[in-house]
Amino acid sequence: MNARRIRIHVEGAVQGVGFRPFVYRQAVALGLCGWVRNCGSSVEIEAQGLSTAALVDRIQASHPPHASVACLQVEEIAAIDEQAFRILPSRPGEDVITVVPDLATCQDCRREILDPTSRFYRYPFTNCSQCGPRYSIVERVPYDRANTTMRGFAMCSECRREYGDPLNRRYHAQPTACSKCGPGLSLHGNATSADPLQLATKSLHDGQIVAIKGLGGFQLLVDASLSERVERLRQRKRRPHKPLAVMVRDIGEAREYCMVDAAEAHLLESAGAPIVLLTRRPGRLPDALAPDTGTLGVMLPATPLHLLLAQEFAGPLVCTSGNLSSEPICTDNEEAVERLGRIADVFLLHDRPIRRALDDSVARVIDGEPQLLRLARGFAPLPFPVRKGRQALAAGSHLKNTLSLCDSGRIIVGQHNGDLENSLSVDAMRQAGADLREFFGVRPAVVACDLHPDYASSVYARELKLPTVAVQHHVSHALACMLEHGLSEVLAVVWDGSGLGPDGTIWGGEFLQVDRTPSGVTWRRVAHLKQFRLPGGDAASKETSRCLAGAMWEVPELKGLVSSSARQLLERGLNSPVCSSAGRLFDAMAALTGLCAVQTYEGQGASRLEAAAGTQQSVDYQLSLAGGVLDWRDLLLAAHGDATSGVAAGEIAARFHAGLASGILSVALDSARKSVVLTGGCFQNRLLTELAVRRLREAGFEPVLARRIPPNDGGVSPGQLVATVEGVSNVSGHTG
Ligand code: ZN
Ligand code: ZN
Ligand code: FE
Repeated sequence: MNARRIRIHVEGAVQGVGFRPFVYRQAVALGLCGWVRNCGSSVEIEAQGLSTAALVDRIQASHPPHASVACLQVEEIAAIDEQAFRILPSRPGEDVITVVPDLATCQDCRREILDPTSRFYRYPFTNCSQCGPRYSIVERVPYDRANTTMRGFAMCSECRREYGDPLNRRYHAQPTACSKCGPGLSLHGNATSADPLQLATKSLHDGQIVAIKGLGGFQLLVDASLSERVERLRQRKRRPHKPLAVMVRDIGEAREYCMVDAAEAHLLESAGAPIVLLTRRPGRLPDALAPDTGTLGVMLPATPLHLLLAQEFAGPLVCTSGNLSSEPICTDNEEAVERLGRIADVFLLHDRPIRRALDDSVARVIDGEPQLLRLARGFAPLPFPVRKGRQALAAGSHLKNTLSLCDSGRIIVGQHNGDLENSLSVDAMRQAGADLREFFGVRPAVVACDLHPDYASSVYARELKLPTVAVQHHVSHALACMLEHGLSEVLAVVWDGSGLGPDGTIWGGEFLQVDRTPSGVTWRRVAHLKQFRLPGGDAASKETSRCLAGAMWEVPELKGLVSSSARQLLERGLNSPVCSSAGRLFDAMAALTGLCAVQTYEGQGASRLEAAAGTQQSVDYQLSLAGGVLDWRDLLLAAHGDATSGVAAGEIAARFHAGLASGILSVALDSARKSVVLTGGCFQNRLLTELAVRRLREAGFEPVLARRIPPNDGGVSPGQLVATVEGVSNVSGHTG
């Protein structure tokens, strides 16, 4: 007989995504016998018959959409006497732990939820093996129902039948449930039998603010079509200008308000279902949604609850994190009612516990491809393989904090924890750290943190009473991008607001040559933006005029125009730290053009500059490069001249962006590196990034952007781990 028996070992994202039933169906269709089972985080298969090779092909070519096969090994073994193909119970293994991020409602479930004849009609917790909650509800591995927050809900007979049927879409769908047996909605303070969903929808129509318990935490919803309703939410949330995201029913509705190209549509409809930043069509929705930018954050419903709300409200809804500005997102019913009581008029609750807080992710398309700006629901946890791992934790940055973990073979990036600006946020980060270590079973031997000792994240790292390694902020940014793209030799352009340099000054307009070699990471600061002082220190990050005064102080022709209050600080160098920050240079330009005097959130001035510049082609202001200093003084002088002679703010902003892009190219030309990484918060500016990318490409360089690890401070923690695990040294002479 020529029946062959093979053993297949599959690693990757293969659990919680319908992988075993897929293998089962293929094997049965091919007339094979054998079995499939989960083992640790991988899947093991034995198959016997005439077409075992076809099974391997199908696993590689057409595995379920949310699965990904990282490694597939096949070995031939002795045939045995066997009649059928079976799915065997999981075998605990010692493999690495993987878990799939939460998956947006699939098309099949969506159809059932909207079908009056389906038993899932209007059921807000419908899911299947291809969709539904994962990381937000799983307490520990292996991923079985008893290890999720669904363990309190006993399945009804029909759910149980589907769960046990290998040919059913809900075979081993751990969170499966229906209206008979699963979680249910309730309206806080309303004991009537009325439909909570209908009441919540009516409240939204009446202009009320509704807090809903979403997938990874509470969200605040309000009618997005009327300015005064949006403004009321802003007042109550104490968030005057920062952009608010909008949820719409489908791509068609998104297109009514924004331009949506193919890549953006794909991103909106992806299983991660992030908020996608889209170019707004003017005049369609209130400016109050995002007063400083030409974009709007739009998302499609990610869960059945959101789908039903969006369908039944039938209009755009603001959908923003359920928190007071800079506090962590609420996940617990009672906590939400208490903390959000002054914001929301109505609370739409449910009784499925949230295991860990996951905010909505934010992404956009830049240079034709997606880029994640906030790594959370649908994307976290995010693993990257590393050659030599070591048990370690990284505490990340102070703003947009994420934590990352390293085990023997991977760096795992955790979810967005927010800005560590108050004790609630810091507590939430501590919890996230404990959770991450426990969940992945990592006992860190070392904790990486930022060089800045006063970041709440650095304080946390020291609290853990383990050896710490302090990694320079911009080196971390660069290494995160190198990790993501597997690069070992780059010029990294790292531009952001601020990060402490080893020389004690504030860095933020950096050009670093970074190498990853088997003996460790080495880096050298090859250039930086010309330094200037920030009169008033931290106050300068809010009051842009301080940045402008500090920059003008460096230009002999403009020095005399600096106000006397700033002059007093600058003359004596009093509370006027030295910086090379690109972010602060943007702030100076926001002041010079009159576009933004006081910032109510980080990056507001830069957002307004970018929006004002539009996409018009423009002449460049000139920067000069000498001795590793990229000097912007001529730029400032020219911009100042333009402003006084009445050139429009938008034109000045455009020339400024173009000038910076040529400045970046001049440093790249000076360096011998082909790969040029563009990262740091400033490269969230699409105009700057696309201008720089285009010019670098035209000159033969290979520009590299952060794609899955955010370019902002959310990307700092994985970079810290690369430095710590691989070892890092500064080979620089130049710190000028
Ligand atoms: Zn589904
Ligand atoms: Zn049921
Ligand atoms: Fe940064």
